Amino acid sequence: MVAGQAESLEMKHTQLYIDGMWVDGENGDTLEVTNPATEEGIARVAYGTATDARRALEAAQRALPVWQKTNVYERAAKLKKIAELMRDNVDYLATALTMEQGKPLAEARGETMASAATFEWFAEEAKRAYGRTIPASANNKRLFTVRHPVGVCAAVSPWNFPLVLQARKLAPALAVGCTTVSRPASQTPLSLIRQFELMEQADLPDGAINLLMGPPAELMNEFMGNRICRKISFTGSTEVGKELVRNSAGQMKRLSLELGGHAPVIVFPDVDVESVARASVIGKFRNNGQVCICPTRFYAHRDIEQDYLEACVEETKKLVLGNGLDPDVNIGPMFEDRAMDKADTIVKDATSKGAQCVTGGGRSDRFERGYFYEPTVLTNITSDMSIMTDEPFAPVMPIMDYSDIHEVIAKANDTVFGLAAYVLTNDLSAAFKMAEGLEFGTIGINDTVPATPQSPFGGLKESGIGRENAIEGMDVYLETKAISIAINE
Ligand code: NAD
Repeated sequence: MVAGQAESLEMKHTQLYIDGMWVDGENGDTLEVTNPATEEGIARVAYGTATDARRALEAAQRALPVWQKTNVYERAAKLKKIAELMRDNVDYLATALTMEQGKPLAEARGETMASAATFEWFAEEAKRAYGRTIPASANNKRLFTVRHPVGVCAAVSPWNFPLVLQARKLAPALAVGCTTVSRPASQTPLSLIRQFELMEQADLPDGAINLLMGPPAELMNEFMGNRICRKISFTGSTEVGKELVRNSAGQMKRLSLELGGHAPVIVFPDVDVESVARASVIGKFRNNGQVCICPTRFYAHRDIEQDYLEACVEETKKLVLGNGLDPDVNIGPMFEDRAMDKADTIVKDATSKGAQCVTGGGRSDRFERGYFYEPTVLTNITSDMSIMTDEPFAPVMPIMDYSDIHEVIAKANDTVFGLAAYVLTNDLSAAFKMAEGLEFGTIGINDTVPATPQSPFGGLKESGIGRENAIEGMDVYLETKAISIAINE
């Protein structure tokens, strides 16, 4: 425990937020939220049912005409107020985020500020949700389009970025006049509860935003089966995403899916090895590798592979593992026991097939409690190792070599995922060839932190459908209506 930090988290609210009120779930159930650094319970939150989901959808439905008719400039002002409240209360939000999720406080602050920036960006962009006029093929016709909010939207997110992943859904949906029902992961609701507490001060109509904790499949079934819910925006695993696609057919439910990834990093021989190793290690171990766009396969040109490997190992050894509330810590606990077991399984699978573990490789023995896994670097990697095909979501860095640009593009693309890829080079021609040849939704060239509110974010192939952030991330909350007027000539 860090000196001066309370072991439990003081929460003003722990209930569901429905129709502008904090309420218990229908059956009064609650769920304990655990701190992964201490394995201790830090709060109990209300745990609702399908009936609560229905009540939340009905509240959002009642709020819809009020919010939709609120002028877009007024809606924008309220969203900007939310951004301001989040910035003013960054530590209040970030402490809850670190304690429920494990990431270091500096990363939690960064996530909070990115969420605030997302609200601000969409507040501005909603003013530009333009339709268009279309030249008609008959002289007595006038054609144009208008944009219309989709309606009531459900926003479902996982535990690894509890604030920013909700912001990418709520900000564009609210900005264009939709109303929302949010469901965070059951294990990490606390920072979002605090955000909702702050959002109350932005004076949105009752029912415009709702917050539910509860059993994932049960609540999702209500969203999927209830015609009030016009759209579901889901961030999570590809496996669950596929199930949602199958289930959406009944009502042609609009879906946005932000799913898993397996990001290659291609290091060219022209780089400054020390500095790219530093950037690689920072990118790799951010949030313990539990990031959808986390770099997961490192291909270094054979001319520099040994130097790059050594520099990465050196940088990895500098990482300070510990409770994320400690300001000196830059890698926190993994999210849960199961996540650590999965990391161990991946490492054991690789070493059993010939990989060499150069540093790390197991649960840390320096902590009595908490889910601490030593940051790990592996080499001697072969394509039959599970780390090369399954999304690792773990602090494990496999490094291998390549010799030819075409060969490495083919290897990088040889995956069902297509979320993010990274290229480290100063060679402009190589950078362009990679940007054009890699089949991924986001390509960071000398940039291992490429996500930002104004740039589209999403996956090719099995990494998802649709985009978040940017104008693309607003479009998915709008329907287009075509208007055709016949006039007297
Ligand atoms: P998950 O699919 O198990 O869970 C995601 C969310 O869905 C959680 O809130 C969970 O409670 C809920 N859920 C689980 N099963 C469900 C079901 N049958 N029906 C409805 N909801 C259900 O994913 P996870 O393991 O918690 O999260 C990690 C995954 O999320 C990784 O694959 C990661 O790449 C992905 N992710 C993607 C992005 C992105 O933007 N593309 C961002 C973050 C995480």
